[in-house]
Amino acid sequence: MGKEKIILKDICKSYYSETTVTQALHRINLSFSEGEFVAITGESGSGKSTLLRIIGGTDAFDEGEMFVDGETTSQYDEEEWEEYRRNEIGYVFQDYSLLGHYSALANVMSALLVMGIRQEQAEEIAAEYLEQVGLKGYENQKASKLSSGQKQRLSIARALAKNTGIIVADEPTGNLDSETGEQIIRLLRDLSKERLVIMVTHNYEQAEAYVTRKVRLHDGVVVSDVNVGQKQTKKEQGQQEKMKERPHDSQVDVQASFGSLLRRDKNAAYFARMNRRGQKGRAFLFTAFLFVVSVVSFLFIGELYFQADDIFTKEYSEAAFKKKSQVRLVAKRNDGKEFTQEDIEKIGAVHNVEMVDSCDYANDINFYLEEGEDYRYAYGSEQSGLSDKEFRIVSFLNKDKFMMSTDCISKEDLRKGRMPESRNEVVLYSSDEKILGSEVMCYFQAVNIWGPNEYYGKNLTVVGLLKEETRQVYFTRELCNMLSQRMDYAEYHVSYADKNPEFFPMIAEELSGNDAKVSFKFYDRRSGLIEGPFGETILRFDEFNKEGTVTGESKNYEINVLSPKEEPHEMTQKMLEVSEEVFYQFYPRERENRQASVYITSYAKTDSVIRQLKEMGYEAKSTYRVSVTDYEEERVNERLTILGISIIGLVVIFLAEILVLRSFMKIRIKDFQVLKFIGMRMELLRKISYFEIFVYCLTAVIAAIVVMWGLRIAGVLFLQEMMWYYRFSTYVVFVLYNFAAGFLTVFFFNKLLTGRLKE
Ligand code: ADP
Ligand code: MG
Repeated sequence: MGKEKIILKDICKSYYSETTVTQALHRINLSFSEGEFVAITGESGSGKSTLLRIIGGTDAFDEGEMFVDGETTSQYDEEEWEEYRRNEIGYVFQDYSLLGHYSALANVMSALLVMGIRQEQAEEIAAEYLEQVGLKGYENQKASKLSSGQKQRLSIARALAKNTGIIVADEPTGNLDSETGEQIIRLLRDLSKERLVIMVTHNYEQAEAYVTRKVRLHDGVVVSDVNVGQKQTKKEQGQQEKMKERPHDSQVDVQASFGSLLRRDKNAAYFARMNRRGQKGRAFLFTAFLFVVSVVSFLFIGELYFQADDIFTKEYSEAAFKKKSQVRLVAKRNDGKEFTQEDIEKIGAVHNVEMVDSCDYANDINFYLEEGEDYRYAYGSEQSGLSDKEFRIVSFLNKDKFMMSTDCISKEDLRKGRMPESRNEVVLYSSDEKILGSEVMCYFQAVNIWGPNEYYGKNLTVVGLLKEETRQVYFTRELCNMLSQRMDYAEYHVSYADKNPEFFPMIAEELSGNDAKVSFKFYDRRSGLIEGPFGETILRFDEFNKEGTVTGESKNYEINVLSPKEEPHEMTQKMLEVSEEVFYQFYPRERENRQASVYITSYAKTDSVIRQLKEMGYEAKSTYRVSVTDYEEERVNERLTILGISIIGLVVIFLAEILVLRSFMKIRIKDFQVLKFIGMRMELLRKISYFEIFVYCLTAVIAAIVVMWGLRIAGVLFLQEMMWYYRFSTYVVFVLYNFAAGFLTVFFFNKLLTGRLKE
């Protein structure tokens, strides 16, 4: 007989419940040696399993002492018990305790990995032992799909593969037919030649021929303990001793080394992977659920960023900028000089700048191009005595179109024709190519400059057609500047005598020298009164300061106002058509284009673009920001509601996620119990779930981002609008949020698990 492996001395074990105390073992004194094949018998409830659990290190005893290789164990801490289970014990469980969703091979491998053996080697050893128990060919079969006999054998293979000195088996044949049962017992017998095998059985007859010793329990007490014969000679045993080379003993020794710490991490990844592979449906549900959570949180977090700026809850005032645009900035050079082509290109290249228009003021001038759509005529009545052509009143319908200069387009944007070159040429979009080369009447209204009732009409020639459909018409810089001169020149007024305080000079190409024209409406046909300036007259040019008082000298220009009867034209009484020559005396060209409109991709990029422009030497501000005034109660409430819903939503789905994941994971507790029994460290047990959750979260988060970007690119409008507000930090918050929920769940689950496994 070999040396004594296990000695139990006065072992007592009781189970306590709220109302009862069950003494399962009472003063057990037994010793077991290497080479023994011990059968433990006794009726149900006599304490056999309890005894086995104590020997196997999965249950603690209350009193007494257990010696392992002569050393006491009562001082063992949790880690030492783990090590004991891992390195000393091969456990064959009554209920098999397999990892049902793992393959047969993976079940055996897990026990080896737990011992710190490398994956490749573990796979080899596992395959070898599966063969030994007759499971060759079932390596990749899921454990849950095996028959009872196969499960039992797998359970044994797992215990054997560990190559430990002690094998404990709790009713290993309980669920098997007698023939298979006998096979199993023979297998255990063979093993016991070089180990200690302790087997619980209630079918002693079956085992009688093979065991070396029979221990009988009754009510937790040993009632008999007899040796039932020698199965081998001393000589045989000596030979066995030599063969008893443990193929992976050396592996076990490096447990504490840094390498094995890393390896255990790799093992956590392995177990996490096996969990995913073994339960594809579950893994899919997990990921799908996390994906939904990711998408919803992506939207809620986006909404928080989107609503962070309260500017959209304010009223827009058209006082400064008539064109209500969230994406328009106005920019000036720091030196106040006019914008050059180089400036325009430089700004145009800035990240998130869409286009630059050096004719900023024109961007607030309405234009009306399509008759019936943009404007409508009312013609002269009979009483007026004027012809239809002479008496024509125009009313404007569609006030949401504003001028833009050709700065904003290039030749590449044209489908046909050319870029406009002179003041009265334009490009536009039309499906009707016949419009190319024809003249169109265009009206302009610069409310911020001329006041609400003034307009100016001009015939323009279409010289190019745009590729992309748009209602925007692009005008030359010359025309834009002409219409907005008074704006650039805010400190000047042009007036005639004292009758009309102010005129807005316009260029009429057909005029030359000091010839000028005023509106037809100066002449009242019915009364015959002539109210406007006709004939030779003087125009006065006054310079004002910011407070509106006249500074400096007045300049006078002599002009000759032609009779309106000759050619009525489309303008109000404040307009005065002059020759180009006279016009540029009033307004020298050097003072043009000192303020540019810069259009950005989204209001979300306002601060970022302003900052970049500042670094480049331009001062810019958002036209939207300077134009919003008071809060609008309804929109303020709307914003607060959205913010509230988003925050509550995020909290709710966070908690829901934790609850759902937790219940998902609870299903796993039994698996973890198995892993614990085969000696897995708690530390590794905890890591497995982290690894698993990490992969699920990562997949879900990436999938959500990809899907959202896909939808954005595909043209889902609300995403396009919202995602401009996503910054790097939005994604960081989004990822952290999703991982936090996952990791917190694992954290709580691990706490629960630790508690459960201690029981
Ligand atoms: P056997 O394996 O011989 O059938 P057990 O060792 O399972 O017997 O049980 C011995 C006694 O201890 C029985 O009375 C049983 O009810 C009790 N017992 C076993 N395990 C527990 C437990 N976890 N909690 C409470 N009582 C237990
Ligand atoms: Mg039992």
